[in-house]
Amino acid sequence: MIHNPHLPSQAHGDHGRVKNYVDGEFIDSESPRQQEITNPATRTTLGYVPLSTSSEVEQAISAAQDAFEEWRETPPNLRVQPLFRLKTLLEEHYDEIARILVQEHGKVIDEARGSVRRTIDNIEFACGIPSLLMGDTLEDGAAFGIDEEVIRQPMGVFAAVAPFNFPAMVPFWFWPTAVACGNTFLVKPSEQVPLTQERLFQLIDDAGFPPGVVNMVNGDKEAVDAILSDPRIQGVSFVGSSVVARYIYHNAARRGKRVQCQGAAKNFLTIMPDANLDAAIPNLISSFFGNSGQRCLAGSVLVAVGGVADELVERFVDAASRLKLGYGLDESVHMGPLAAERHYDRVLRMIGKGVAEGARLLLDGRHPQVPGYQDGFFVGPTVFDHVTPDMSLAQEEIFGPVASVIRVADLDQAIDLANFSRYGNASSIYTASGKAAREYKYRVQAGNIGINLGVAAPMAYFPFGGFKDSFYGDLHGQGKDGVNFFTERKVVITRWL
Ligand code: NAD
Repeated sequence: MIHNPHLPSQAHGDHGRVKNYVDGEFIDSESPRQQEITNPATRTTLGYVPLSTSSEVEQAISAAQDAFEEWRETPPNLRVQPLFRLKTLLEEHYDEIARILVQEHGKVIDEARGSVRRTIDNIEFACGIPSLLMGDTLEDGAAFGIDEEVIRQPMGVFAAVAPFNFPAMVPFWFWPTAVACGNTFLVKPSEQVPLTQERLFQLIDDAGFPPGVVNMVNGDKEAVDAILSDPRIQGVSFVGSSVVARYIYHNAARRGKRVQCQGAAKNFLTIMPDANLDAAIPNLISSFFGNSGQRCLAGSVLVAVGGVADELVERFVDAASRLKLGYGLDESVHMGPLAAERHYDRVLRMIGKGVAEGARLLLDGRHPQVPGYQDGFFVGPTVFDHVTPDMSLAQEEIFGPVASVIRVADLDQAIDLANFSRYGNASSIYTASGKAAREYKYRVQAGNIGINLGVAAPMAYFPFGGFKDSFYGDLHGQGKDGVNFFTERKVVITRWL
């Protein structure tokens, strides 16, 4: 057993191996394949995650399918009762979950707490499902004496495949709504950060869902492929890179499944000459460097319009250089490490590429001094100036604490630049002009627009998804889109003689 004083012992399986949760039981995977879980700040081993076999995924789907018939018959007001209990349990274990998250992912504790709050928001939304499931009726809709109504029905077993960057929250964008709608569910967490989900599933178990309603299987591509090929899976919600999003979209859709795939991002943040820089700078710093840049809504390109550029860049670099790096459990730390070695290597490679392509490196975050944590995967805030649209820095997702400044003459050029990107997850404008903000809001091709704020994250009541290569599918996650995704709408036309 690997000892870590910060992790509850039950966060591991008996042999430091994470368990699956199937049919209301925590079970050991029999897969010979497993992967180490590492604390990215200390590089200590936290445990091992099994890479489950396709037959283990099939067993979980069987449990979910068996549970479906009774669960769909359970009235919505009763279906939400375990969700209410789960919300209370999460409030009680709020800080404990945040601390596990810091250890396996590297976030700083406040970011971790924020993401647990968003996790809870999604449960609260799903608790309102009895109202959200109410259909539409039209008296005499078809003719005199013939009424028409829409009823919403659950469909069966759904699954979610999650990324590494929000280990608690992302599966909760989907499963509470799906389950409240009367479906049953299988969560496949990111194999890189499975400990937070394991602890959350212990609380899900305590909340008292009937066995088989919510299940979890750990794994990698083999597990995902088993989900995609199983005819009992009605739909798949995916969040992760665009390459895998495309793969899942094609392979789920060609088998007739519903599918919503949230992919990668490259977010452009535009600063107009009339922006209030005192308010904008701390907000921009949080957007570009919060979560060490590993947020699909993080700023990536800082678009300086007209005369604002010199002052903006000077103040932005100054503020960025003051951020304190360290282990996220220390409350005074602003930025943690990248979540794993492969991300660390990629970010260093991208910084090297930026230098090679001729961008001007104003702040170099490579190999920072982090006393006590020299082995961690730390990259400090990095700022490039005079980036041009043809450079990799302007085109590729970096997913690290790297800001690229592009200088443009006016708002039209800023909008063209944002729209030139193959991605369209989020974009923001900082301005005092309602007219400029309105132009931006209507013309920029992105799913989430920020006006004077740098992380345009929709609350649980709103749909969340991007445009272009940031999203494949039609109905987004969260909000009423989620309710539509997880229900079949049936029209009933009635005449009583
Ligand atoms: P990833 O695509 O590598 O992995 C995501 C999931 O897919 C994991 O559960 C993994 O096991 C599975 N997977 C990986 N390779 C697979 C394959 N070949 N076949 C089948 N399944 C496979 O993504 P990641 O590195 O975990 O997450 C980072 C990415 O997620 C970034 O691109 C980021 O922008 C994106 N992201 C997007 C949003 C959004 O809302 N658009 C939110 C969070 C993260």
